[in-house]
Amino acid sequence: MQTPAHAGLGDLLSYAHTADLPAGTLVRVPLGRREVLGVVWGSRAAEGGQALLDGSLADADGVLLRPVSAALDALPPLDAHWRALVAFAARYYQRGLGELALAALPPQLRELDSTQLARRLKRRDRKAQLAAASEDGAARAPACEAALAPSPEQSAVLAALEAERTQGQAPRPALLFGSTGSGKTEVYLQAVARCLAADPAAQALVMVPEINLTPQLEARFRTRFAALGEGAVVALHSGMTNPQRLQSWLAALTGQARIVLGTRMAVFAPLPGLRLIVVDEEHDPSYKQQEGARYSARDLAIWRGQRQGAQVLLGSATPSLESWHHSRPAEGEAPAGRYLRLHMPSRIGAGELPRVRLVDMQQQPPKTLISAGLLEAMTQRIARGEQCMVFLNRRGYAPVLACTDCDWKSECPHCSAFRVFHKIDRTLRCHHCGFTERVPRACPTCGNPDIAPVGRGTERLEEQLAALFADIRRPDGGAVRIARIDADSTRHEGALEAQLAQVHSGEVDVLVGTQMIAKGHDFRRITLVAAVNPDSALFSSDFRAPERLFGLLMQSAGRAGRDSAWLAAQGSRAEMWIQSFHPQHPLFEALRGHDYPRFAAQQLKEREAAAMPPFAFQALVRADARTQEAAQAFLNAAGDAAEGLPGADEVMRYPAVPLAVQRVANVERAQMLLESGSRAALQRLLAAWQPVLQELRRGPAGQGLIRWLVDVDPQSI
Ligand code: ADP
Ligand code: ZN
Ligand code: ZN
Repeated sequence: MQTPAHAGLGDLLSYAHTADLPAGTLVRVPLGRREVLGVVWGSRAAEGGQALLDGSLADADGVLLRPVSAALDALPPLDAHWRALVAFAARYYQRGLGELALAALPPQLRELDSTQLARRLKRRDRKAQLAAASEDGAARAPACEAALAPSPEQSAVLAALEAERTQGQAPRPALLFGSTGSGKTEVYLQAVARCLAADPAAQALVMVPEINLTPQLEARFRTRFAALGEGAVVALHSGMTNPQRLQSWLAALTGQARIVLGTRMAVFAPLPGLRLIVVDEEHDPSYKQQEGARYSARDLAIWRGQRQGAQVLLGSATPSLESWHHSRPAEGEAPAGRYLRLHMPSRIGAGELPRVRLVDMQQQPPKTLISAGLLEAMTQRIARGEQCMVFLNRRGYAPVLACTDCDWKSECPHCSAFRVFHKIDRTLRCHHCGFTERVPRACPTCGNPDIAPVGRGTERLEEQLAALFADIRRPDGGAVRIARIDADSTRHEGALEAQLAQVHSGEVDVLVGTQMIAKGHDFRRITLVAAVNPDSALFSSDFRAPERLFGLLMQSAGRAGRDSAWLAAQGSRAEMWIQSFHPQHPLFEALRGHDYPRFAAQQLKEREAAAMPPFAFQALVRADARTQEAAQAFLNAAGDAAEGLPGADEVMRYPAVPLAVQRVANVERAQMLLESGSRAALQRLLAAWQPVLQELRRGPAGQGLIRWLVDVDPQSI
């Protein structure tokens, strides 16, 4: 029997089985001396089945087929939609089919046999029955939270979604462009409710960008949909234990879960009844996986929705320029985009968006940390019992420690980067490779005991704010309470929840943090948000940096003044302060007017003129090697070898260049950018190129193997 042809990826293997196994059945098969998990991808009844395996290359041509060790047939097979999604993702992102399929399955599946799985399924069923019985018996507990009466804007959006869903053809993806605080979450809840009500087998998938946003959302969905019974709402993200993940996954597969909430990995959940996919904060870069198969969960959600006939709802106050462009209204001769665009400009409760105030730091005395105006504004707010949030996208105490005598700086010996000074444990930590050392007592080069922090991270900002507010009192006469939330302060399990709870309950006056605090949170008492040093992104070499900065600042602004009734009672108005050395920058001008469309129009014009996404398609080929020369030589040779391959004449290949941080953990990194006006041509070239890259990866003698990877639709270049 032959291995089915699968260009270059080589991980469809053939096995024999006594009975015909339907495609999608999970199996355990021998591979070398191991036994591994596989998925039946197709079968020939007379000859036996073919199972897909994890990664390893094996030549199955004509060799005697080994038998399938066991079929996990207690589980329903993974359906054709799921298999199509995995196959598409593998092809599109240039990864092995087996690698992708296995990564999409819960790790614990590898350990359990069919009997154990059957037992778990039964346990789930029993729990659900018990819960249902107790609800019938008891006085209709648990009280299911009622939907809020939708605002006119919410009603219009829900009606438009419903019309799109019921117009007879496959629904177009919809982009909900809604201000921060316009009530997008309520739209998601009600859209899910309507879609589930229409069909008892319907399922909905709701994705959020960050794990730390899932508990809040999960709580809201659980209360709102309590009437669906135990286990109807499940979460799926990498913060869960393996048994928890398996439970959620089984519930999705069997249809018992009606709603799956999760991060990007949830896009691969098996959902036979999928009718609606919500992608909240669709512009967020964390939807793009940054290792292994570098997939975009948002893009896959759109593909999956269209393939499975499910409605896709993307939501954002600052959509990605891709989604914005795809949802453009028809203009003159120009055809409309492929997505439906829905708009909710108003904040719930007629709340206003915060007033944006720009501070020109050129006009401030040198080394000003917090301008006098901002300090005064914060003081007044604190005196009224309001909360302030100060946002700085850099953690640690200071990005560099330097000798005041010689030119020693806290470089990482293994990376082309500085190690960050963390004062709390007096360490120098490399944020790229993790290399950590105690701060030296004196300069390692000249012995000068005077080594000083340069620049500022959140840890230092917290300390400096504490000093600035030392003499200022709260309404009750107490000292100002400052808290910090970033990746360092929330390292321990439960720390983030505890810190957020403190902010919500009003035990904090000033919250300092990185982008972790900018996103999504529904803070009720924050009325002033300040970004104290956002300038670096204005001049980044990455063309997406302004888009990301604008999104982040709008998100941060969106944390202020969310409770309009309370704000009015306070006689107060929300503000967003920005300290910048370039206050005239058009990005800030657009921000001042909360004018995303203006910002997007200007960015899209630049992108179109430069033929950049969304007007072109990109892929990066990255090479890691012992020397920069070897990495670049590999890429340039690969570039030459691409000449004449299918698609090559439509794809622009740029010369290899070092990455921005070119050495990490003693590995030199280089990349080559490919660009094309045709997605299909780029895909054709990448597919034809795979075997060539594979062949070339033995670098010059003595240099060792080159590692390479392809990043399709890269988010940062
Ligand atoms: P967004 O996600 O668009 O930033 P949220 O969904 O968090 O906004 O809504 C902002 C606030 O408005 C929340 O406190 C929410 O409970 C409230 N809200 C949303 N819709 C309604 C409504 N129809 N009636 C009353 N309050 C609402
Ligand atoms: Zn020195
Ligand atoms: Zn390092």
